[in-house]
Amino acid sequence: MENKEFLTQQLLWIVISIGISITISWFVPFPLSWVVIIGVFLVLSFYMRYRMMKKMGSGVGMFGSLSSPFSGNSVNYYCMSCGTKHREASCPRCGSKMKRVG
Ligand SMILES: [Zn+2]
Repeated sequence: MENKEFLTQQLLWIVISIGISITISWFVPFPLSWVVIIGVFLVLSFYMRYRMMKKMGSGVGMFGSLSSPFSGNSVNYYCMSCGTKHREASCPRCGSKMKRVG
């Protein structure tokens, strides 16, 4: 699930980069367009690195303090209507979405 999301994001970035290159080479004459494109990509990669670092930082913080349902095996849900222990969005036994954390 995470891998697929990562791949989609990578693909999106490739599409965006191609779009940016084409757009720039349309408006800026050839030798200069390369300089502009390289400059734009440098800024973009810095921005991405910054965003990734921020994301990772907050991820670590969340892992330490809050117990998110994605952060480990410590959280279990119990169905409110039949009491089945599960980790799905809805109960696999009766389909109820009502659940409590245990
Ligand atoms: Zn149930």
